[in-house]
Amino acid sequence: MLRSFFEGDPLEGEIADICEETFTFPVLLRRLDDSISLLELFHGPTAAFKDVGARFLASSLSRLEADRDDDRPLTILVATSGDTGAAVASAFYGKPHVEVIVIYPRGRVSDRQEQLLTCWDDNIQTFGIDADFDACQQLVKAAFDDDWWRKHMRLSSANSINIGRLLPQMTYYGYTALERWRQTGEPLDTVVPTGNAGNVRACLYAREIGLPIGRVVMATNANRPITHYLETGEWTAFEMVETLATAMDVGDPSNVERVRHLYPDIDSLRDVLEARRIDDESIRDVMRSGPDEWGEVWDPHTACGVRVREKLDRDDAVIVATAHPAKFPEVVEPLIGREVEIPERMAEWLRQPTHMTEIEPDLEALTREVRRERGD
Ligand SMILES: *Cc1c(COP(=O)(O)O)cnc(C)c1O
Repeated sequence: MLRSFFEGDPLEGEIADICEETFTFPVLLRRLDDSISLLELFHGPTAAFKDVGARFLASSLSRLEADRDDDRPLTILVATSGDTGAAVASAFYGKPHVEVIVIYPRGRVSDRQEQLLTCWDDNIQTFGIDADFDACQQLVKAAFDDDWWRKHMRLSSANSINIGRLLPQMTYYGYTALERWRQTGEPLDTVVPTGNAGNVRACLYAREIGLPIGRVVMATNANRPITHYLETGEWTAFEMVETLATAMDVGDPSNVERVRHLYPDIDSLRDVLEARRIDDESIRDVMRSGPDEWGEVWDPHTACGVRVREKLDRDDAVIVATAHPAKFPEVVEPLIGREVEIPERMAEWLRQPTHMTEIEPDLEALTREVRRERGD
């Protein structure tokens, strides 16, 4: 699937090795009963689907950097609401020629997400600010525009509009669609928990290159921009609202522009895509009844997909499971009345010591700390 995108590229001959480095964990297509299948994307090192894109990007970039005549490393600057920063830190950790600066909102991520953001050293540096995700993102933007940063650092970003994250995410939709096609001769319908719309965009690209994918249903939390757009045909950003599915708390999803580019008129978009909004009360309901009804413990993001799947009349849509529930015990455990079992890879990073620098949410403070670290 990926080879044709790399034709004539310096990485053309390395794509097999890059995939080898990326997929060190399984992607599982699991049937629960006659009507429910899951595509589990959370078996990677940081227990969310973002491992796939982050690892592919890290492997590609460190290979490209090895061929450059520049002794300054490439600095990846990443603002995170939780999962992206951890996946990027884990993927780039210890890789030559690259370093990562992560900025996250203290107190607005789960304890385990925080542990995973701060259990690094070496080429990963983590900053916590006492503000929200938007403030983290503004800091990153300010650094990209700043004279000192532009002069002294070689900067890149790793957010989900990066094509190096998009391409590898197409492959799990390709795999699932072909499995479905071979077994039933039917195209794959999917339900994708959606926030910034990077994952769903990868699904749409897989569909456009000709894989047997039928309808794609986005499950959003209470944030409204996507459902509002599909209902009205008018694109507007909304003020972000906080929900239980925090990794999907996005008021102005940046990947929608590419989706609209793919389907410029709203009717062609509606032929392929639909969206449903799930409020926190429904997320709680689904998680609470998970063990009895399905024998499953859901995380709050996948729970949105499960509820949307129940509302559809199509019987065989596959729900994309985006994170492991053990990442969000504060939300999950009170609802199911017991502890969530921790997978071994997660137990391993929970044992690591943490390092974090707390700074004021302004560029001056960030620059001062980064310069100090550099002995500048
Ligand atoms: C990032 C994330 C999402 C949303 O994915 P988008 O590509 O931003 O739509 C959903 N669930 C989890 C667990 C995530 O980390």
